[in-house]
Amino acid sequence: MANEQVHFRTCTLCEAMCGIEVKHDGEKVLSIKGDKNDPFSKGYICPKATALQDLHEDPDRLRKPVERTAEGWKELSWPEALDKVAAGIQTLQKQHGQNSLGIYLGNPNVHNMGSMLTTKHLLTSLKSRSRFSATSIDQLPHHVVCMHLFGHMLRIPVPDVNRTQHMLIIGGNPLASNGSIMTAANMRQKLKDIKARDGKIVVIDPRRTETADAASEHHFIRPATDVLLLLAMLNEIYAQGYATTSKAAELAVDIDQLEVFAKDYSAENVASITGISALEIKRLVKEFCEAESAVCYGRMGVSVQEFGLLSQYLIMVINLVTGRLDEVGGLMFPKPALDIVNNTGPGYLAKRHSRVNSLPDFNGDYPVVAMADEMLVPGEGQLKGFINVAGNPVLSTPNGNKLDKGLEQLDFMVSVDYFVNETSRHANIILPPVSPLQRDHYDVTFNGLAVHNVAKYSPALFKKKAGEMHDWEITLELAKRLDKKATLSTKIERWLTKTFAPKFLLAQGLKRGPYPQVNLKALQQQPHGIDLGPLQTMLPAGLKHKDKQIHLNINFYKADLARVYEVFQQYNKDQILLIGRRHVRSNNSWLHNSQRLVKGKSRCTLMLHPETAALHEIIDGQKVKVSSRVGCVEIEAQITDELMPGVVSIPHGWGHGRKGVRQSIAQAHAGVSLNDLTDDTAIDKLCGNAAVNGVPVQLEMVEQKTVELAVEEL
Ligand code: SF4
Repeated sequence: MANEQVHFRTCTLCEAMCGIEVKHDGEKVLSIKGDKNDPFSKGYICPKATALQDLHEDPDRLRKPVERTAEGWKELSWPEALDKVAAGIQTLQKQHGQNSLGIYLGNPNVHNMGSMLTTKHLLTSLKSRSRFSATSIDQLPHHVVCMHLFGHMLRIPVPDVNRTQHMLIIGGNPLASNGSIMTAANMRQKLKDIKARDGKIVVIDPRRTETADAASEHHFIRPATDVLLLLAMLNEIYAQGYATTSKAAELAVDIDQLEVFAKDYSAENVASITGISALEIKRLVKEFCEAESAVCYGRMGVSVQEFGLLSQYLIMVINLVTGRLDEVGGLMFPKPALDIVNNTGPGYLAKRHSRVNSLPDFNGDYPVVAMADEMLVPGEGQLKGFINVAGNPVLSTPNGNKLDKGLEQLDFMVSVDYFVNETSRHANIILPPVSPLQRDHYDVTFNGLAVHNVAKYSPALFKKKAGEMHDWEITLELAKRLDKKATLSTKIERWLTKTFAPKFLLAQGLKRGPYPQVNLKALQQQPHGIDLGPLQTMLPAGLKHKDKQIHLNINFYKADLARVYEVFQQYNKDQILLIGRRHVRSNNSWLHNSQRLVKGKSRCTLMLHPETAALHEIIDGQKVKVSSRVGCVEIEAQITDELMPGVVSIPHGWGHGRKGVRQSIAQAHAGVSLNDLTDDTAIDKLCGNAAVNGVPVQLEMVEQKTVELAVEEL
């Protein structure tokens, strides 16, 4: 084609940071392929990458701000929209107080350089303490553990997958997630490589996932009992004499106390609840400890449960006491060119507590499970307004129907979003930013979690058009209107950012970073990115505690053992438990308007084991009513031995059938929302993270007759 051009950039849709090669003719995207010269992903991409084009071209994507009126959505000019938003917020806060405005930051913010570098201005100018984010339905336990142990919430070690000989994966499915709190493009190849060098991959999961299929072995575990398995493993490590000294272990204050930490949890007494035999637990420990190098990695399935924080702590200490922390092939610390650890505060837990349920904040954010009650329960400090930036919490946080009700009765709501979706349909005004292909990008977040050190800058592929705005411009415009009394230095920073764009802040940050050879100019000359080498040992220099030691905070975690005892004393092994699942063609709730990604057989099904199905007289392909404490959904059954008996699974992010949504493809593939079943009162009390893994449910076959009647009635 005569005008065909090639552009290289990083895919921003998930954590994996794949390099992509975009062929285009003017603003027409011709193809999106993997960039073979990208030093991190080496040509790999997953099927989602093409959604960058779909998102850019989507006719349902809003290009101008819109206001909800009695006659429907009405377009506004940007100055008009921003003035109305600022006036709405000011009126609300004047009438009900500053904290009556809630703020929710969704997951896409962390994939967006402009947002990452400027959101602080939005938060300061809104002057509200009622902040929430997607962190507390995801990786919060990782942050808390790392803050305690290493002195900073972002000093997070990741598996050195490229060099390990033994990988123990608990509650993680990197073949669907493409790595998570472990930025690692092409995990399938990485797992194959482990096997090819005679290594071993063991997966522990209530579902035989895509990763389990690719592993050396898989063990089913009852959902949310991982804490018992991990306690027994720690106990066995000491019992079998595998605890060892290492450079990291020598830096750990009070490490000797770990020997008795899990003394009450033998492999024998956790076997029947977890579903893994004592013999197997002992073998798992032996093989892990005897491997030349090894790493234990736990992800979503472990994090989002009642003992998510204690479980992630145990994973960290298991790596520590077996000499796997900060060692090649173990858990290692990335060294990103933009050093976010040195540019942000260390984090804090429980400085304040939420008004209604007294849940602890983390680094200024209250848990998402507190949001609906803060809107619905009257009293001083009740949320009367809400600003939702790049999030869809109606689908992505527990008890979505309750949050729906909370949003419905607000006095004023604003969404910064591309679409009229399940959450933004409640907004008075929606402010739509430009598409990901119109943004400059440097991965501020995920280079800090990458399994190999790299740096890459991608300029915008397409210029924003007249009448479009970047996320960071929306932020700065709102800050200008709401924060007139900002300090002079803040005003100067905002002016510089507005004038030179966030790449100016990136350039400043890189100058202060650990690699003298990496600056913005060098990155601009290397469109495929710069290889900065494998992970390196970093302790004690990388520790952020002043004494350069690892603080195990044993008493804090030990106190939670009483709760473990109490919960598992009354454990009901007959209860059907619901878990979520992820698919490589899906990304939470926000890629279902891409025809290429949703086509084919419906993926929003209830997976259940043949024995569970037989027990409830459920037939494959027929509708089942699934009920929990908070709600019920009707969903097609998919009988499969992928699931452990007694466990059922529904993927998260679906449920686009709600009234008023304007995403035609997603609506045509609506599915049901897992979060209409998850319970906002189920939390990890230690940190406030949502406990959506292992929700007790009841199953009931929907009679064929009922389905026919319902259709006739319609
Ligand atoms: S794994 Fe897929 S969605 Fe994630 S960065 Fe790579 S191409 Fe993009």
